[in-house]
Amino acid sequence: MVEKIQQITVLGATGSIGSSTLSVIEQHSERYKVFALTANTRVDDLLSLCLKFKPAYAVVASEAAALKLQAQLVDTQVLHGAEGLDFVAAHPQVDMVMAAIVGAAGLAPTLAGVKAGKKILLANKEALVMTGALFMQEVKKSGAILLPIDSEHNAIFQSLPANYQQGLQQIGVRRILLTASGGPFRQRDPDTFSDITPEQACKHPNWSMGRKISVDSATLMNKGLELIEACWLFDAKPSQIEVVVHPQSVIHSMVDYVDGSVLAQLGNPDMRTPIAQAMAWPQRITSGVQPLDIFQIARFDFYQPDEQVFPCLRLARKAFELGGTAPAVLNAANEIAVAAFLDEKISFTQIPQLIDAVLQQVSIAQADSLAAVLQADKQARDAAHQWLMEY
Ligand code: NDP
Ligand code: MG
Repeated sequence: MVEKIQQITVLGATGSIGSSTLSVIEQHSERYKVFALTANTRVDDLLSLCLKFKPAYAVVASEAAALKLQAQLVDTQVLHGAEGLDFVAAHPQVDMVMAAIVGAAGLAPTLAGVKAGKKILLANKEALVMTGALFMQEVKKSGAILLPIDSEHNAIFQSLPANYQQGLQQIGVRRILLTASGGPFRQRDPDTFSDITPEQACKHPNWSMGRKISVDSATLMNKGLELIEACWLFDAKPSQIEVVVHPQSVIHSMVDYVDGSVLAQLGNPDMRTPIAQAMAWPQRITSGVQPLDIFQIARFDFYQPDEQVFPCLRLARKAFELGGTAPAVLNAANEIAVAAFLDEKISFTQIPQLIDAVLQQVSIAQADSLAAVLQADKQARDAAHQWLMEY
């Protein structure tokens, strides 16, 4: 049987996940066609991608940038702003949406794709952290297929049975082992953490990623966000998820069953594996990733994370336990803190200080509407900016 070519919108096409996605698409042009590509500021990069992939649509931030880009493109219609992003995420011709915009900016278009019932390849963990309950309700309501791209969650998904949505207890899961590389400062003397530079923080030992998630990995906030992400995706309680530092980043996470079996997914640390897995699911396709050389890796190490040295993990756990809009507040404060650190306005150790202060200051509400979440996001950003002016 000849299968229909799948049309894909890549939100955040110019980023690290965007480029890994396009690499997989390029290897399978008989299965996938790019419907739309989006970027924020890297418009020249988007132009090159449009010339290569000839999408029907491209989306950039401003009208001025859209006009400039349109003048250089014949086969692609250029849109701009939030409406443009929503349009290409929900368009009737789209089969799959790769949600790979970084941060809260990705929430609205990802939700637009969810509401339109698309197959959603979710890299943008911040969207789920901010709106967990609402997001999952919308997935159920629309019948969207939600597939995790985050390597750990993709590994958990692969290690669970197809009927995992019945609940972890019903399928005999004791706990989820969420692995973490530990980041670049796992072995660094904590007394020197305030000297850490943005360049050092962005140099991840195993993964090549965008700057924001690289800093999140260095503070372990990434693992905190992922803990929350896993709770929503797999309907787990935080007590059912154990964070395990595994510096080799070869085991991407594990599921521990009541009979003593522990299932894991392994692979080289290259995001094209989870991307290809989710794109082709339930089939398998090549991704361009080198086969795992188990003899070269030779050993696996495991440690418990140190939440005293890396308080962001503890703060994320606390925000999830507080519930309501607290995870949205945590996420917004973290986005401002990371941007300030990358701009060399605050030190590495001030990242958790800022987040903690904002979490204590902003009042937590029910996260029962998108408006409530967006209001919490704004209040947290305002409080974070205030902290930056006063500290
Ligand atoms: P990058 O910074 O490399 O790319 C981000 C993309 O989002 C770019 O295309 C960027 O456009 C676009 N973007 C940024 N801000 C906006 C905005 N305000 N409006 C519209 N578009 C915007 O990030 P990554 O690819 O590393 O990460 C993307 C997401 O995937 C994040 O949520 C991250 O946590 C998640 N993820 C990433 C992994 C990785 O290996 N990189 C692994 C697991 C999850 P422009 O280029 O024009 O600035
Ligand atoms: Mg991850």
